[in-house]
Amino acid sequence: AKVIRQLGNFVSTPIVYLSSEDDFNTQHEAMSLAGDDFLVKPIEPQQLISAVTSHILRARMLRSFMVRDNLTGLYNHTNIKEQLDREISRAGRLGSRLTLAMVDIDFLKNVNDTYGHSMGDRVIKSLARLLKQRLRSTDIAGRYGGKEFAIILTDTDATSAVKVIDDIRKVFMRLLHISDDKEFSVSFSCGVADLNHYPDAVILGNAADKALSLAKENGRNNVAQCPVS
Ligand code: GH3
Ligand code: MG
Repeated sequence: AKVIRQLGNFVSTPIVYLSSEDDFNTQHEAMSLAGDDFLVKPIEPQQLISAVTSHILRARMLRSFMVRDNLTGLYNHTNIKEQLDREISRAGRLGSRLTLAMVDIDFLKNVNDTYGHSMGDRVIKSLARLLKQRLRSTDIAGRYGGKEFAIILTDTDATSAVKVIDDIRKVFMRLLHISDDKEFSVSFSCGVADLNHYPDAVILGNAADKALSLAKENGRNNVAQCPVS
């Protein structure tokens, strides 16, 4: 158990001992090294199942607090960056494509100023919901900053990524947000860059940021690609 705990990936994995050891001191020693629970044999199957299940559920919940953003339920900044590193390595190994898209909501400040900050939060949540609905299961979306999202599109070149995100953009700009009895709509801008042209995480991130700035300069509510094709 102590060795398992030394592996980064298993730090939060629950460990339950099942043993015939009934000496309390020995049990205590085992627990203090790394365990979450100590079950003494003999044990009813149902007891074992319920102990393991409850530890798993709790561990999953804690893990989701660590990797998810509270407001949107998307991956948080730290996690999406980790996943980008991992996916870039994987794409390198397999020789597969990967595109990074940076999405940023346009003029959210105006929404906050006109309808209040909580309305701005609702707009952020509505985009997160749309991303979850519309992206493919192989795409990975995270909330990168306040109103900025990072999307990793695996096995996808920049041209296909532009199409995917542009379809989402068209749906998002048509959503009607309602505050009291006033209706309004919001758009986003996006920059995409692919691993073929920008072969590491930092360079790729900078290129996607640059494309996003370009999309903003082009009048917002559009998707720009780096390098410009
Ligand atoms: P653009 O990028 O198109 O210029 O939009 P903008 O004018 O809204 O951008 P700017 O960088 O000038 O301001 C960022 C705004 O985003 C201001 C800030 O209050 C808002 N914002 C950032 N994070 C959040 C958040 O979590 N919730 C809400 N409601 N607003 C946020
Ligand atoms: Mg602005």
